[in-house]
Amino acid sequence: CSFAHFGFDEALMKAIRKSEYISPTPIQAQAIPVALSGRDIIGIAKTGSGKTAAFLWPMLVHIMDQENLKSGEGPIGLILAPTRELSIQIYNEAKKFGKVYNIHVVCCYGGGNKFEQSKALEERPEIVVATPGRMIDMIKIKATNLLRCSYLVLDEADKMFNLGFEPQVRSICNHVNPLRQTLLFSATFKKRIEKLARDILTDPIRIVQ
Ligand code: AMP
Repeated sequence: CSFAHFGFDEALMKAIRKSEYISPTPIQAQAIPVALSGRDIIGIAKTGSGKTAAFLWPMLVHIMDQENLKSGEGPIGLILAPTRELSIQIYNEAKKFGKVYNIHVVCCYGGGNKFEQSKALEERPEIVVATPGRMIDMIKIKATNLLRCSYLVLDEADKMFNLGFEPQVRSICNHVNPLRQTLLFSATFKKRIEKLARDILTDPIRIVQ
């Protein structure tokens, strides 16, 4: 499989080439065409598999496909991640590739400055990367909302659950329009994640790294 199979435009292809990635990783090769088709995904994949790009590049395409791109408030794409470190890592990758289309990204994590994060959200980013607890805080203080969100990613869902974020994750999912596209990534697929998948995904395709 080569990157050319995905049908990305020249601007994104150029950014991928600049990253010196030679070819898609297995999870990218499998997940990207499915994500681009609009289907929900359960991805069983670990860090290092290239899963970030697998959900991020189709998210960029999804955002560029929206009409009235400038009219909304809250993010179109929301990525939930368990930790500050992972959310910053995803944020950096989202910024790097989002730049291609002038897509604005904001990162909100627990322990960070709430005032600064709420100010950043007022700039109306198309993508937000957040830890679940902090995302709820930001919604509560009305720094952002989920009215425009139509592409939702849960990254390392098992770790979010292990850290006690299940209620926050579920609450956020319940507030996003059910017509959204949802991608759930987890290193393991135990009962609790299986139940979450049943509750929040619509007719998902399962991809195992
Ligand atoms: P991730 O699993 O998303 O955390 O990615 C792990 C690392 O692999 C990151 O440093 C990415 O920049 C890098 N990466 C992602 N996709 C590719 C690819 N197709 N080829 C080589 N490296 C990649």
